[in-house]
Amino acid sequence: MAANEDLVAEDGAILEGGCQCGAVRFRATGKPKWVAHCHCADCRRASAAPFTTYASFDAVNVAWTGAAPKSYASSPTVTRRFCETCGTPMSYESDGWAGEVHIFVAALDDPEALQPRLHAYVVDQLSWIHTDDGLRRYHQTAAEGDPLPG
Ligand SMILES: [Zn+2]
Ligand SMILES: [Zn+2]
Repeated sequence: MAANEDLVAEDGAILEGGCQCGAVRFRATGKPKWVAHCHCADCRRASAAPFTTYASFDAVNVAWTGAAPKSYASSPTVTRRFCETCGTPMSYESDGWAGEVHIFVAALDDPEALQPRLHAYVVDQLSWIHTDDGLRRYHQTAAEGDPLPG
């Protein structure tokens, strides 16, 4: 999805994060494959936020280090994990992104460790969200090709 220049973490960097109550913790190592804002209606509902920001890692590079998160199939091909105590969303996995775990950048202990590079699913973007960050914007995903103008 993202080109090499979009990779922002140093190779071998260790990123840690967790839920609001601290029970579920995770560690992600290596470079994320991409870091992106998602405006899709499904993620909006699942996170109860206007949009959310993901970093994609190879599944083998993500380890749950505290309490195991609970999982929920939000569609036949999508598994979303969350803390069963405080409810914080923890990850997104999908058959469409096999072998990857998408973690929430905002759940990192240092959310500024990663820089989002694009907006996905702007087809679902709420009218009262206004961004002026210069990032590429896609109707759905970058796999569709050229970004939208503006
Ligand atoms: Zn929790
Ligand atoms: Zn989404």
